[in-house]
Amino acid sequence: MVDRIIVAEPRGFCAGVEMAIKALTWMLRIFAVPVYCYHEIVHNAWVVRAFEKAGVVFVNDISEVPTGSPVMLSAHGSAPQVVEEAQNRAAVVIDAVCPLVTKVHHEVKRMSQNGYDILYIGHKRHDEAVGTVAVAPEAITMVSPEAGVGDFAPKDPSRVALLAQTTLGMHEWGAVHDQASERFPELWTARRSDLCYATTNRQTVVQSMAETCDMILVVGSDNSSNTQALVRVAEDLGTTAHRIDRVDDIIPEWLEGVSVVGLTAGASAPEHLVQEVIDALAPRHGFEMAHVTDEEEYFPLPRQLRVFTALLGQVVEAGLTVPASDWHAWTDFDRSWTATDALSLINR
Ligand code: SF4
Repeated sequence: MVDRIIVAEPRGFCAGVEMAIKALTWMLRIFAVPVYCYHEIVHNAWVVRAFEKAGVVFVNDISEVPTGSPVMLSAHGSAPQVVEEAQNRAAVVIDAVCPLVTKVHHEVKRMSQNGYDILYIGHKRHDEAVGTVAVAPEAITMVSPEAGVGDFAPKDPSRVALLAQTTLGMHEWGAVHDQASERFPELWTARRSDLCYATTNRQTVVQSMAETCDMILVVGSDNSSNTQALVRVAEDLGTTAHRIDRVDDIIPEWLEGVSVVGLTAGASAPEHLVQEVIDALAPRHGFEMAHVTDEEEYFPLPRQLRVFTALLGQVVEAGLTVPASDWHAWTDFDRSWTATDALSLINR
């Protein structure tokens, strides 16, 4: 039995994941199933399974979407060619890309149009990296955080931009940034790096817990980049860390001789999976929070979805004998519900 659990705050769902889960839930409310989604809406096995059970079909190629069906594009951002292909094929395309990924796409566009060579730090096969590189493949060289700058040779060393996947480890970004600024003193980077607020906040809590904890558990899926980064952040500080999808993945030997367990969750992991771990470990002296900041970020639903539901609402209202005097677009109340509410709705 462990003595104590230190629970990270913030942890779990970020604003981009909240928005994407609610957007896909709207798709299920509006359209007949199956509803198609290009790539996993977010990288979490439990969430993906819940949507599959509710009638969502996830595809890795737009050609798998039947012509004329509605389709949603995932939170990780899609290649411009994929967006175009979807628009040509589907009746309705709703892009649930996180605005912070879109920001990086804009940077790629702008810097490549300004003649810069872009060094992009990312994980080769991750959906976000694939979509970002596709914005200007001729101008981008992708490197892994481990490989760093390597033999990157730009046309003009005074015009190099360093961009990154939003979910890298802060220490990894910092190491490649240092190397690149040494090689290219006029290096351009985004003002506060491309790592998103959710990535840096969750990693900052793990850094604050690492010294006190004997071991850190990170709830999240194998293909979730920010989850894996949390594990690496803890390990980089010399603390043993394990990623688990859910409580059943905990191997009893991990707990041998462990008194204080740190607990956090990647940005796409539902909170109930964290609570299950606390309940199962039942720490002798209870749990406490490691709090670094409050997150207030909110991302509105995709514009196409808001327009679509507004039009639909007007059609419904036009059919009423007595028009509703206080009519609102259905999505006007989006702030008052959460992705957790949305998931309980589809899991009924
Ligand atoms: S982890 Fe960051 S970039 Fe990814 S969806 Fe969340 S806020 Fe957006």
